[in-house]
Amino acid sequence: MSKFRRCPYCQDSFLPSIYRPQQVVCSQPECQGRRRADYHRKKLATDPEYRQVVRESQKQWWDEHPQYQKQRRQANPKLVENNRQRQRQRDKARLLQRLVRNNPSAGGRPSDGRIRTCAEAKLFLSRSRSLGPNSQTSEAERFRSHCALRTMMQKGCRT
Ligand SMILES: [Zn+2]
Repeated sequence: MSKFRRCPYCQDSFLPSIYRPQQVVCSQPECQGRRRADYHRKKLATDPEYRQVVRESQKQWWDEHPQYQKQRRQANPKLVENNRQRQRQRDKARLLQRLVRNNPSAGGRPSDGRIRTCAEAKLFLSRSRSLGPNSQTSEAERFRSHCALRTMMQKGCRT
């Protein structure tokens, strides 16, 4: 009878340790890391006491390393730039969604209803303009959308 098992992460077969006959995950560091991460995630979601302990130990760590964040940023200027870029992407996405909300009756929307690029936004706005005065989109809302779009373009949207 084979004592081999299949690791749920890497799918390789392995022999459980004689010290841990119940071993489910193989001994490769990557798989053990994933096992611990999954356990941690599950515990955080289901165990309030565990959550509390984690929060306190994190707080203690930050209290003991008050300069960590500042030094990390100074040592890696690229981190700051990457964060800035991601924030710009999030701002842009929010702006585009606002354009859609402010023009509920307009056509020209991508099939899933989500506008992601300036090109789509422009198309969307031009269609909403052509719907004319009877469309539900008020003049004021349209004006706000145009301002939002212009701001977005000035911020360097290249899509
Ligand atoms: Zn494995």
